[in-house]
Amino acid sequence: ASTSRPFTFDNSYARLPQQFFTRQVPSQVAEPWLIKLNEPLAAELGLDVEMIRRDGAAIFSGNLLPDGADPLAMAYAGHQFGSFVPLLGDGRAILLGEVIDHNGQRRDIQLKGAGQTPYSRRGDGRAALGPVLREYIVSEAMYALGVSATRALAAVSTGQPVYRESILPGAVFTRVAASHIRVGTFQFFAARGDTDGVRALADYVIDRHYPELKDRDNPYIALYEAACERQAALIAKWLHIGFIHGVMNTDNMAISGETIDFGPCAFMDTYNPGTVFSSIDQRGRYAYANQPGIGQWNLARLGETLLPLIDADAEKAVELANTVIQQYGERFQIHWLRGMREKIGLATVEDGDLELVQSLLAVMQAQQADFTLAFRRLSDASGSGGEALFLSTFRDPDAAREWLAGWRERLTRDDSRTEDDRAATMRAVNPAFIPRNHRIEQAINAAVDDADFSLFEALLAVLAKPYDDQPDFAAYMEPPKPEERVLQTFCGT
Ligand code: AMP
Ligand code: MG
Ligand code: MG
Repeated sequence: ASTSRPFTFDNSYARLPQQFFTRQVPSQVAEPWLIKLNEPLAAELGLDVEMIRRDGAAIFSGNLLPDGADPLAMAYAGHQFGSFVPLLGDGRAILLGEVIDHNGQRRDIQLKGAGQTPYSRRGDGRAALGPVLREYIVSEAMYALGVSATRALAAVSTGQPVYRESILPGAVFTRVAASHIRVGTFQFFAARGDTDGVRALADYVIDRHYPELKDRDNPYIALYEAACERQAALIAKWLHIGFIHGVMNTDNMAISGETIDFGPCAFMDTYNPGTVFSSIDQRGRYAYANQPGIGQWNLARLGETLLPLIDADAEKAVELANTVIQQYGERFQIHWLRGMREKIGLATVEDGDLELVQSLLAVMQAQQADFTLAFRRLSDASGSGGEALFLSTFRDPDAAREWLAGWRERLTRDDSRTEDDRAATMRAVNPAFIPRNHRIEQAINAAVDDADFSLFEALLAVLAKPYDDQPDFAAYMEPPKPEERVLQTFCGT
């Protein structure tokens, strides 16, 4: 390690008590090569972009430790597929430090795949190129789609193989997050009976993510409520864009309300609420439509950790926490329905709107409509685009005609926007472009097999403007052809 000062670090997590983390320097890699640097994000973070362009391969591989970094692996626990593991922690991720961005927000900069840590158990601490590219593509797509998520700052290839079911090229992913504190971080302290640890963590989280709650009478129940609200809003957004996280373990749920840990995540093509991609999700625990319920289950686990803080009287604490978790369903429903109203172009509220939305989803499911394309074409149908393209997304177009008639009738009672205005508003919430699984797979295969990153770059470019019509890239809107379909995605290990 030599000197390089492209970051202005201020490492607050490293100042927390020692049981929160273990200091750990990244391991050296053989031949780092910078695949991609997110320069706009680097600028937003106040980094010295020129220096980073020069030293990026060394810095984002972990070979060169920038001045001011205080690298550490965070401790956390978590429920994995429902089973509690009291010690997980960053087994292959190393927090370099924190910077304050141009909006005054504190952001973590973390290397994922930077070598072993005390939490690695039997893992090698490394990441394979494919999952690194997947996380890069999907996190940047989420950002462009307007969904709260961790960001991609860089991807570096290591020049070293990683040994999985086959031998794969290795890579390091640099992730930027509001923080990497998870529900599982709270569980880590609670499971050890370390109430002081839970309190220190909660106070830190309030300071960093919920400062408006500091002066509440009971800041801890307020924190719980606010965290539930953010998750309800987040998961509703996932459903609006057809996103399936894939591994909603409590260690993969960020307390900040950002989407985190894009392992086997994927976007749904054909609408089916039971859709699962993850190869390790045999029972569909984390299927598309199960996500709101799993969110509540995870948040119930968070609530359990906070009980001793919420009230000294255990019974009263449970009562208060229960009230909050019981409101989650309603919170979610409000966010979900609000977004679905927007997706079908409604500005006003009527009692029958939920049924109108549900009946559209039912036809889409029965007629195997592509989720993204159907809503995008519906936007066009609202304007001068006509109905034919919308109808053609259904196997039997006639099945959707009745719904369209009911929708048109409902629109007559909506606000007085022109048809084209309504279409434009709808296009702003119904993306034309999502990171379709088969496209990601093609980009990964070209990179892994031929060191060809052109498809990766092309995909990133298209996904940067998901709500724009990009006629030159119309092919990227298309669902996979039968032979292109990707049915399973694999964990990032
Ligand atoms: P994930 O399934 O990616 O959310 O990770 C679950 C746990 O496994 C976390 O504690 C990770 O740090 C750890 N882990 C995943 N992959 C590796 C690896 N290759 N080496 C060491 N630890 C890992
Ligand atoms: Mg994880
Ligand atoms: Mg992970």
